[in-house]
Amino acid sequence: MRDPMINYQTATRIAASTGTPVFVYDEAQLKAQAEAALTIPAPFGLTVRYAMKAAPTRAILRLFSDKGLHFDASSGYEAERLLAAGIDASKISLSTQELPVNFVELVQQGMSVNACSLNQLETYGKALPGTQVGLRFNPGLGSGGTNRTNVGGPASSFGIWNAKVEEVRAILEKFSLCAFRIHTHIGSGSDPEVWKRAASLSLRMAEAYETVTHFNLGGGFKVARVEGENSTDLQACGAPVAQLLEDFAERTGRKLHFEIEPGTFLIANAGALLTRVQDIVDTGEEGYSFLKIDAGMTEILRPSLYGAQHPIELLQAKPGTVRRPVIVVGHCCESGDILTPAPGDPEALSARDLPDARIGDFALIGGAGAYCSAMSAKNYNSFPEAPEILLCTDGSIKVIRKRQTLEQILVNEA
Ligand SMILES: *Cc1c(COP(=O)(O)O)cnc(C)c1O
Repeated sequence: MRDPMINYQTATRIAASTGTPVFVYDEAQLKAQAEAALTIPAPFGLTVRYAMKAAPTRAILRLFSDKGLHFDASSGYEAERLLAAGIDASKISLSTQELPVNFVELVQQGMSVNACSLNQLETYGKALPGTQVGLRFNPGLGSGGTNRTNVGGPASSFGIWNAKVEEVRAILEKFSLCAFRIHTHIGSGSDPEVWKRAASLSLRMAEAYETVTHFNLGGGFKVARVEGENSTDLQACGAPVAQLLEDFAERTGRKLHFEIEPGTFLIANAGALLTRVQDIVDTGEEGYSFLKIDAGMTEILRPSLYGAQHPIELLQAKPGTVRRPVIVVGHCCESGDILTPAPGDPEALSARDLPDARIGDFALIGGAGAYCSAMSAKNYNSFPEAPEILLCTDGSIKVIRKRQTLEQILVNEA
């Protein structure tokens, strides 16, 4: 569909600087996506938070911070990583499955917390009575791309179940807590109807707690990585939500500040993994042809985990002309380490038509900015963590994370 993020010449330049495999992030695209996210309609104010679990490297955090984004942290460690990057605590919101032991300290520095379970709310109230807290609800509606990315509805453990309004109220009263934010994150996808339903269900929660001033719908704005997938039209998804916020204000007199927390939308297509073909094998006429690259689940786990589809392009000095079906596999001793599974089915192989490859050719895996470097089977087979570079708007290459060394893998061993 779209052209590969970099061409052969740029790939050669990057490989000369860091070797392969290497994650490449495009500064211009990162900035453009941040600017696009800031245009979602919001009648009474907007905060866009980068869901940093998508890609948490310092240079990326700084770039988004400079664009005016705030942050969503999914663990205490992520929150501390933001602080270490020089991000002010007041820009951090924590929504986590596991409340960190030092959450009091983090809140005292200015970070906000969304209680994601009754137990978290109770723990928070005990430690910080009389303060403000956000409430993450599961509004009872789900919409993930796959079962494993579904983060709402009865099969999801994220957030307080929507029917537990009275239990929540009792805990708020017990500790004189003020609920200031309603948070939901169901991964609504690219369908404006689903965003509208998620917003209207979440607004019921905002209506139930009069002290709420902030309305956060989370992330989940899908982008198309390969042909046949849909990208989110932010204006189309935002318009009905903005209307609901206006209606809410008219009915209740309360003008809610709107927040979104995109991860994927901001960075998925602004990143790619540059690899090299390091072997080519086949299993005979009835079998398959396999391209083995010098990366795999140690860099990109999504295909093995969800059957996620990533575009793969060969970058060759002399482009091959005949395209043949091949299976692209990773370098790990693990039969599940494949880059071309069937869509949504990590167990099944699905061949891609690629030009004739030679050992040493570059293979560029696209759509690899989000949940790739951040969510890999790091150090499996003792492969070191791949470096990351930023392809700057002036064409220069900035190494934002070096390749890990073997010594660094071993450093904590007795
Ligand atoms: C993961 C996550 C996001 C970002 O999801 P994307 O699908 O990457 O946009 C936003 N908010 C919360 C609470 C999350 O856990």
